[in-house]
Amino acid sequence: MSKDLYVVAEQRDGEIAKVTLELLGEATKLAADLGEKVVGVLMGDGIKGKAQEMIEAGADKVIVIEDPMLAEYVTEPYTKALTALIKEYDPNIVLFGASSIGRDLAPRVAARIHTGLTADCTHLDIDMEKYFEFLHATSTADTDAIAKKLGMDDKTLKMTRPAFGGNVMATIRCADYRPQMATVRPGVMKLAEAQPGKQGEVEDFKVEFTPEDMNVTIKEVIKETKKAVDITDAKVLVSGGRGIGSADYYKELQKVADLLGGEISSSRANVDAGWIAKDRQVGQTGKTVRPDLYLACGISGAIQHIAGMENSECVISINKNDTAAIFDVSDLGIVGDVKVIIPKLIDALTKY
Ligand code: FAD
Repeated sequence: MSKDLYVVAEQRDGEIAKVTLELLGEATKLAADLGEKVVGVLMGDGIKGKAQEMIEAGADKVIVIEDPMLAEYVTEPYTKALTALIKEYDPNIVLFGASSIGRDLAPRVAARIHTGLTADCTHLDIDMEKYFEFLHATSTADTDAIAKKLGMDDKTLKMTRPAFGGNVMATIRCADYRPQMATVRPGVMKLAEAQPGKQGEVEDFKVEFTPEDMNVTIKEVIKETKKAVDITDAKVLVSGGRGIGSADYYKELQKVADLLGGEISSSRANVDAGWIAKDRQVGQTGKTVRPDLYLACGISGAIQHIAGMENSECVISINKNDTAAIFDVSDLGIVGDVKVIIPKLIDALTKY
């Protein structure tokens, strides 16, 4: 019988990606609901030492596949290794980060295993699928007990993701196939606190590779010299929308961000206009952020934007339209002109 919840780790140069640690924390909660274990899958070359970090982030066990073929991420050998592991261990659920690697690897593995895949999830839950169908069909109060008696209490993974351009949130289940597979957007799951010294099992899994498994030749790996800004790490984001009027006004928002120890970010409108780089975009097709403070300046609050920032600890919005949707998700709303409010804010913060 399929069991346990597997999290496929993403690593570059032996550094475990943040999304993997987020998923391990989330998997711990889901596994508790299922009464199953969290298993981390770590693939690479000379990376076994990283298994402990995954255990401290929530894994009960880590299965390590090491081979020189897996030193750099290449689709074919990684697909072969993970497919073999899934066939051997028969997991109930397999989770990946919806990063460029996860988005490449997960669908190939799902196709080889003949199972389904829900891409780009923003929420995961465990509940009883048949129970809820049953609940709709009856008004009986003690449905839980009856569902159990009828064998309708299978717990399945409920995967939520935006659909139709972000206008609806779709709930997807993988009814009859196993494993249930999902990629999850980086930043949507809260990073759980690490548990230093936590004990767990580490197991090796061997995969026999042939030279034909490597269908590309890596000639050189050129590391990015300019460190890309990662707005998902920022504690404070000062975000500009079309209402700031021009690319130039980001200089003023940058002053606010500097005074608050944060970064600037943006709505998609301004990225599309070429006012700011794509790596600053918040939203459904940008990044999901959860800073302590999100200061939205001249952003209307389209559903696709809100999808990326609604989990911020505190949202303060400045908009001259008092009916702007951004106010519905704001802790504090300032109805006014950005160009009047921002200079006052800079002034006040400078004095402070
Ligand atoms: P607008 O909607 O034009 O809003 C500008 C706001 O500024 C208005 O509310 C206005 O009242 C206010 N304003 C104007 N002047 C001032 C002033 N001087 N002072 C104060 N307020 C002022 N959008 C994203 O942001 N992220 C995404 O990831 C994303 N993904 C998308 C994916 C799809 C499939 C689709 C279809 C759309 C997506 N969008 C995304 C676009 C989204 O629908 C909106 O078009 C976009 O968010 C609007 O950006 P905005 O709020 O900056 O601009």
